[in-house]
Amino acid sequence: MANIPGCWIDGRAVGGSGQRYVVDDPATGAVVAEVGLATADDVDSALAHARSAFPEWSRATPAQRSEVLTELARLVDADAENFAAEEVAQTGKAVRLAQEFDVPGSIDNIEFFAGAARHLDGKATAEYSGEHTSSIRRDAIGVVGSITPWNYPLQMAVWKAIPALAAGCAIVLKPSELTPLTTLRLARLATEAGVPDGVFNVVTGTGEDAGVALSSHEGLDLMTFTGSTPVGRRVMAQAAVHGTRVQLELGGKAPLVVFDDADLDAAIHGAVAGSLINGGQDCTAATRAIVAESLYDDFVAGVAELMGRVVVGDPTDPATDMGSLISIAHRDRVAAMVNRARDIGARIVTGGSVPDGRGAFYPPTLVADVGEQDEIYRDEVFGPVLTVSKHHGDDDAIRRANDTAFGLAASAWTRDVYRAGRATREIAAGCVWINDHIPIISEMPHGGFGASGFGKDMSSYSLDEYLTVKHVMTDITGIARKPWHRTVFAAAG
Ligand code: NAD
Repeated sequence: MANIPGCWIDGRAVGGSGQRYVVDDPATGAVVAEVGLATADDVDSALAHARSAFPEWSRATPAQRSEVLTELARLVDADAENFAAEEVAQTGKAVRLAQEFDVPGSIDNIEFFAGAARHLDGKATAEYSGEHTSSIRRDAIGVVGSITPWNYPLQMAVWKAIPALAAGCAIVLKPSELTPLTTLRLARLATEAGVPDGVFNVVTGTGEDAGVALSSHEGLDLMTFTGSTPVGRRVMAQAAVHGTRVQLELGGKAPLVVFDDADLDAAIHGAVAGSLINGGQDCTAATRAIVAESLYDDFVAGVAELMGRVVVGDPTDPATDMGSLISIAHRDRVAAMVNRARDIGARIVTGGSVPDGRGAFYPPTLVADVGEQDEIYRDEVFGPVLTVSKHHGDDDAIRRANDTAFGLAASAWTRDVYRAGRATREIAAGCVWINDHIPIISEMPHGGFGASGFGKDMSSYSLDEYLTVKHVMTDITGIARKPWHRTVFAAAG
């Protein structure tokens, strides 16, 4: 068991001044680490260091920041095995996912922003009456507070911290108290890579304590948050006290719409992979399959058969497809939602019962014949649970896809280019996949509409979140008495 101070402040490990907290492995119950929880005092200290470190980092040239981030990507790559092992130990996710998705995706994201750091160009130029010329400056927004969830601890820390660093901001990041380890490792490597002390700080604490203290702090220029919709709304309210700008990446309830001309085999495979990735603990996971009547029975049979072949078990075994969920408490929440669906008449086609033995395991679960008002169809389950219902033609399919408060991601399965075009235009979600569900890429933005929040992670759109737009107007004539002065006072002559 590792004994970890709990915070990374001003370029060194600092003991959180709150209680000691145990990070455990949800697959085995074993203690992975003991961490000192951060309190409001630690948040104050981290923000004070960030504020004093900000001017120097923001004035480094884009090339200097780019060089540091390039080195960070190299260090993370060299330490990839430890990142993957820690990610598995603290979340219970399958090691194959950590090795092939979480860690390489994070490295690619750091490499992307190492390049993007050199693209801070302003877009506009203008001339005013031939006497002035205008340009745009893109400057770092300042000190950023950031709060991340437990489902992809490293990737979420990277998505928040790295564009902030590329833009020249200083950051204080609070990871989920369940999963602080890889975020602390990332911050330590950032210091090693040359990020100046105080620029990248981590405070490991609970939401109610360090989270509230951070998001309601007056020392912030921007608050960025990834997590659930109810907590995101609280963070927004807490930040509003000081008028702090916010960016929110919240929950999802992604539809997977199968039209009657779809490649059924592709849709079945996509539905299983898209709903079970990370044990379904993915904000973009496919959760509502909405399938053409003519394909419904074959789709249900195909998905159930494939789900039955998914290997659930020891997350450290490369042969395992799906590990455990994040905690027993979360597993019980998922199980209770499925039980309530069963109680009101939904058909559990496969899965749906808690296995014997230790660990927060739950099987791949397909729930058919769900009603449009059912809790399991409307609320985020955040587990390996896919509901399936019928649609009666294209209008009905799109209506059902949009019949949700969330708007993070969706997919449409069809061979018809016009249907695909209509789906991409009419489905209200931050990402619409055609004939696939899940892939992401550093160059493209991730972020939702409605109850899924606003603002973007990844891509140059994310960099924009961390930059101000400043209009600079310069007199290019050297004339003291400008013609426009006469509009204000005739004596200007
Ligand atoms: P959560 O909302 O419970 O917690 C997220 C973070 O907020 C944690 O660090 C937690 O400690 C902190 N927190 C809790 N209460 C707080 C408060 N009052 N003030 C400030 N901070 C507080 O979410 P979770 O259970 O960790 O993660 C799962 C959720 O995250 C799901 O809803 C999922 O959809 C969402 N998520 C969204 C995205 C996205 O990009 N849109 C990505 C990943 C996860």
